[in-house]
Amino acid sequence: MRAVTVTPGVPDSLRLTEEWPEPASEEGAILVEALAVGICGTDQEIIAGAYGEAPPGQERLVLGHEALGRVLEDPTGTLQAGDLVAGVVRHPDPLPCPNCAVDEWDMCRNGQYTEHGIKALSGFARDRWRVQPKFAVGLDPVLAPVGMLLEPTSVVAKAWDHIERIGRRTEWKPQTVLVTGAGPIGLLAALLATQRGLSVHVLDRNTEGPKPDLVRALGATYHTSPVSELEFEPDVVVECTGAPVVVLDAMCKAAPTGIVCLTGVSSGGRTIDFDAGALNRALVLENNVVFGSVNANKRHWDLAAEALARADQAWLNSLITRRVPVAAYAEAYTPGPDDIKVVLDFTA
Ligand SMILES: [Zn+2]
Repeated sequence: MRAVTVTPGVPDSLRLTEEWPEPASEEGAILVEALAVGICGTDQEIIAGAYGEAPPGQERLVLGHEALGRVLEDPTGTLQAGDLVAGVVRHPDPLPCPNCAVDEWDMCRNGQYTEHGIKALSGFARDRWRVQPKFAVGLDPVLAPVGMLLEPTSVVAKAWDHIERIGRRTEWKPQTVLVTGAGPIGLLAALLATQRGLSVHVLDRNTEGPKPDLVRALGATYHTSPVSELEFEPDVVVECTGAPVVVLDAMCKAAPTGIVCLTGVSSGGRTIDFDAGALNRALVLENNVVFGSVNANKRHWDLAAEALARADQAWLNSLITRRVPVAAYAEAYTPGPDDIKVVLDFTA
């Protein structure tokens, strides 16, 4: 069968392997035929050789962590043949740490977790894959065209879950949300904000392309000014750029008792001149919280599946700006100027 693979650590080793072995039964009882795989920046980093780890004893890593498939057989009865399914990306560390011990692998403390398509587990960019019932997420049939958005949605479902848990430290009635960055994560974070009935603002540097209309279609307001020039103080900020100036401005801009959730991974190595004392003063005097959020556990995947099923399906579809057949895989992994989410199509 076909699989999209790399040799981790070797730049530009991306290949479509035609005779990859069928998934081993140890991978899980549920056998799945791949429908599609979403592509993101993590895949690009792995292809560049900056990241990624093959399974033990193997030279190559199958890519793909934003899965969508259809169940071929499930002898456990958890799902039925024909059901749509996604596989949870991260598996708990084998020791396990206190968080992994209670299936909060998204909060792993020792870093020994594994991840499909990223770290020591084969990814989902292959014609067939297997998954254990515990890591299988069933999707509403209506999500057949867009279900590969479940993984990035799980990331923002976790972010919102933790924002709300932190909010419960006090009487808290948030009204205004600022999302910085209108990539897939930012747009999905904005979607979940609108589902909460909040007043949503999305800030991105792009003045053209599909992003402004996608934001407006949510009933949200699109901004291209610097964060510091916005004329309101958000109760919640979901930061999705990782750009140092945007991150720091967002921390300073939050309203009293505001919560700033950082989801963007900065590359580091760039320094800027910044008044750290003024930031500390603002955070203390306004009871603000700044926290980081990454990954998601099964509960968040289930919340994400509900959120996607509730969303406007046409809007979700418009996030997918290119669908590339597997045979043309190299095009899928080559970024385009108006890309939001590019999907590798295993049915074409
Ligand atoms: Zn752990």
